[in-house]
Amino acid sequence: MIEAPKGTRDILPAEIGRWRFVEDRAHALFERYGFREIRTPLFERTELFARGIGEGSDIVAKEMYTFTDRKGRSLTLRPENTAPVARAFIEHGLYRGAGLQRLYYIGPMFRYERPQKGRMRQFHQIGVEVFGSDHPAVDAETLEMLMSFLRVLGIESAALRLNSVGDPVCRPSYREALLAYLKEQRNSMCEDCHRRIADNPLRCFDCKVPADRDIMARAPAIIDFLCAECRGHFDRLRSLLQALDIAHTVDPRLVRGLDYYRRTSFEVTLSGLGAQNALLGGGRYDGLIHDLGGPDVPGFGFAVGEERLVMSLPETAAVPSGAPEVVILALEEEGVVGALVLARALRRAGRRVVFEPQPGRSLKAQLRRAGDLEARFVLILGESEIREGAVAIKSMADGAQDRVPLERVEARLREMSGA
Ligand code: AMP
Repeated sequence: MIEAPKGTRDILPAEIGRWRFVEDRAHALFERYGFREIRTPLFERTELFARGIGEGSDIVAKEMYTFTDRKGRSLTLRPENTAPVARAFIEHGLYRGAGLQRLYYIGPMFRYERPQKGRMRQFHQIGVEVFGSDHPAVDAETLEMLMSFLRVLGIESAALRLNSVGDPVCRPSYREALLAYLKEQRNSMCEDCHRRIADNPLRCFDCKVPADRDIMARAPAIIDFLCAECRGHFDRLRSLLQALDIAHTVDPRLVRGLDYYRRTSFEVTLSGLGAQNALLGGGRYDGLIHDLGGPDVPGFGFAVGEERLVMSLPETAAVPSGAPEVVILALEEEGVVGALVLARALRRAGRRVVFEPQPGRSLKAQLRRAGDLEARFVLILGESEIREGAVAIKSMADGAQDRVPLERVEARLREMSGA
């Protein structure tokens, strides 16, 4: 038997309702805030990620699915979607015309990671990007939308942690201070951190080794080094969040090591997720569009892991079941035509109808099957019904049964549904 590749999984029909529930709410809510959907290719030129995420990042250094195509071009399955969306934004000149561009996406991402609960090689993200303004109100409104999204999904225990990572004005002096600290600690740190200290010391905050995390917890905090402008941006953002009643804590260790990240950096964690407790991450990346060869346009965004969202939905979520409303049973071969015609008429009236042609199989067995399908109503075409141009209607909820002429079926179903 051939199995699905390691780190991937099938989302089976029984689970799909939870995914649709999440995605339907994302579309509806984000569009209420003026976001428009964008769909970019699943693979891109490798250099986009090398430049857009950074050569020294863990993703680019060890997690990408990179291959050469038949013409020798290096392509990569997208490990994240901010760089592709930024690429599309530049390529199609979406910055022309004054104003903001609010974009969102839903789709699979690919990272060669060690699979574990909540961590896959093909996983899905729901993300948004706002281009065109560095006003803290963009950060505040987008965070408010994010928290509303989690609320409409019924996810209660989300904790928002916030930080500012400064900008090119204030980060150099912070970097100096951090580097001085790390040089003292270097000998107690892991090999990866040695590389990070040489390449980009801010990335040491990404280290997962417990001893190194303790060292980083005592490191100088960037928040103490912010220049007046960054401080002002951060304070304003916090006061706007307060005005919107968005609870948050400041986490001075929340640092994104990429050069184009500016100012706002945030994460949402959920207590129920275990070790992989980060539900989403995001921030401001005012340098990205410029670094990718576009104009100097600021950006802000986040990406939520959809697997982790789906896992965190409450049991009570109003997830669509996908069960048919009506199952039609033809007990005789002569009933098959009538069943097909009736099924078509009911579907045209908007009902979900299933017909499984099994004439000759016992009524009892067919009713059991309809029960397994969780149908609300069963329509039975037996010998006498066929003769009389009628159909028996059975309500599965209370077992009530009735017989009506074929042309009355839809009306009777409406009555029985109480609609
Ligand atoms: P990142 O793009 O690394 O900031 O990740 C944003 C969110 O995507 C994380 O908080 C996770 O919820 C999710 N995520 C990232 N990598 C994976 C993965 N390998 N498997 C499942 N979810 C992931």
